[in-house]
Amino acid sequence: MLAPGAVIGIVGGGQLGRMIALAAARLGYRCHVLAPERDSPAAQVTDLATVAAYDDEAALDRFAAAVDVVTMEFENLPVEALARLARTRPVHPLPAVLAICQDRREEKAFLARLGAPIAPYAIVEDAQSLEPALAALGRPAILKSARFGYDGKGQARIAAGGSVAKAWATTPAPCVLEGWIDFEREISVITARGPDGASASYVPVENRHRDGILVQTIAPAPIPADLARQAQALAERIAAGLDLVGLLAVEMFVTRDRRLLVNELAPRPHNSGHWTIDACAVSQFEQLVRAVCGLPLGDPGRFADAVMDNLLGNEVERWPAILAEPGARLHLYGKGEIRPGRKLGHVTRIIRNG
Ligand code: AMP
Repeated sequence: MLAPGAVIGIVGGGQLGRMIALAAARLGYRCHVLAPERDSPAAQVTDLATVAAYDDEAALDRFAAAVDVVTMEFENLPVEALARLARTRPVHPLPAVLAICQDRREEKAFLARLGAPIAPYAIVEDAQSLEPALAALGRPAILKSARFGYDGKGQARIAAGGSVAKAWATTPAPCVLEGWIDFEREISVITARGPDGASASYVPVENRHRDGILVQTIAPAPIPADLARQAQALAERIAAGLDLVGLLAVEMFVTRDRRLLVNELAPRPHNSGHWTIDACAVSQFEQLVRAVCGLPLGDPGRFADAVMDNLLGNEVERWPAILAEPGARLHLYGKGEIRPGRKLGHVTRIIRNG
């Protein structure tokens, strides 16, 4: 167990790292951020930072020497960099977990091996294999780049009469082709898992997207209690299957006949868990700190229902009105430049006290 006072290394400098560091500070830990950007949202709230590329071996070694444990705030990192850190420091989650979650082909294969329900899919490595895959899965279908996709980037829907060539041209190969799911809603479960295998899951929440970017999370998701329990059990089974220490966010579709299909995994804090800062005794960020430091996990129960809205692009300019609203909790990430679709903050509104 790492006692308060220890230094947690965070790889990645975005808002997730910032909120990990804030939660860690409340428990008396210090954080050291490794990120290529100067003045990153995470580094703004820590006094220790290494500004270097993720493949800078000398910087990785200096960073490892300066921290007691390593975690990360996004999964598209070079696995070799994490493996290098893991030579001398505990790294949670393991680099092997990252390797699975950063490649849709690996992720699908892992989920299929585990027997987790997923949408029908085919791996499409080259243009020639796209037509037969489409014939097998039917239209509409969705073509997704296997690597480096986020916020709906690297994806194309292929409609009944839509152009296959255009979808192929806009989606860097290799790809995964998925059958289209006419879902009732999208939900996610965030589960924490400690080194002893103990787990704690938040209630499933409903997520609404616009242009592939999360815009709103409703906690809890309006689904039957037995389906909610099933979703939590599924997330916990996947986390155990990954031998994960830390947090796992599992995005799922709820089909119209009330089945769950796993869409995506993220082995880190997740945008759909930001409401836990304001509506739970222990937030997802504190839960991550507890897990990676080997402390007992906290109670994932909530004391209020909540709705979280992302502030994307110039929506952030609404901050004065949000501040004036009773029951609204504003979070800004300290990012300078306003760009369309960029996540600049979020607001959590407490809907009903539990
Ligand atoms: P992803 O990057 O896989 O999370 O996909 C981004 C969004 O695209 C999801 O949140 C869904 O709204 C939509 N989507 C992804 N896969 C499918 C699918 N197989 N069927 C229908 N919609 C999908």
